[in-house]
Amino acid sequence: MSNERILIIEDEADILSMVSLRLKSRGYEVCGAETGLVGLRLISECNPDLILLDLMLPELGGLDILRRVRSDKRYARIPVLIVSALGEESDVVVGLELGADDYLSKPFNMSVLVARVNALLRRACAEAIDNTHTSDSNSNKLSKVLIFGSLRVDTESYQVFISDKQIVLTGTEYRLLVALLTAKGRVLTRNQLIDAAIGNDAIVIDRTIDVHLASLRNKLGKMRDIIETVRGVGYRICQ
Ligand code: CA
Repeated sequence: MSNERILIIEDEADILSMVSLRLKSRGYEVCGAETGLVGLRLISECNPDLILLDLMLPELGGLDILRRVRSDKRYARIPVLIVSALGEESDVVVGLELGADDYLSKPFNMSVLVARVNALLRRACAEAIDNTHTSDSNSNKLSKVLIFGSLRVDTESYQVFISDKQIVLTGTEYRLLVALLTAKGRVLTRNQLIDAAIGNDAIVIDRTIDVHLASLRNKLGKMRDIIETVRGVGYRICQ
């Protein structure tokens, strides 16, 4: 199997060379671009398995690149990890809603970056295998039981258990929990959670999502810390 290829679009030369070196030392092939337009061109030339995307870029911004990637069938499934400067949270939120898979804020720890890259590539690979299986059998599209440590969610009976003791959630809390578990550690923004939570019994607007999550955490008791608040951005399940 050939090495996985990573495209880094980053205008800070120091960061670009540091990240390239580290990823190469882990066996990845790396292409680098210092402007948005070069980055866009390299997506077709270098055919990457994953894109590391800075947001503030000369010529063409990271969000514009992301928009083009996600609207192009050939590239729509490439995992995108946003690497953004502090203070760009609102852009990060837009990026996640445009379909970025994860984000990391600068300055970052290089080992954390490598871990996130590995996790995204593993997930992309698992999803590709899943898709092959579903197209084979066309059944069992969703696993019926979601398990996270001692937490168990039966998505057929809508029941939730912690260490075999049932906990009772409202419809909104249940949908939020399932959305977070299904995202497998990916950050979900408030808007994404609102989309997931809207059901017959719920009218959910912006910050009220925080109230529902606080209540869900309370009911999770000793497992409350599995839901991590990502400040200014949203929520995720701690891996
Ligand atoms: Ca930049």
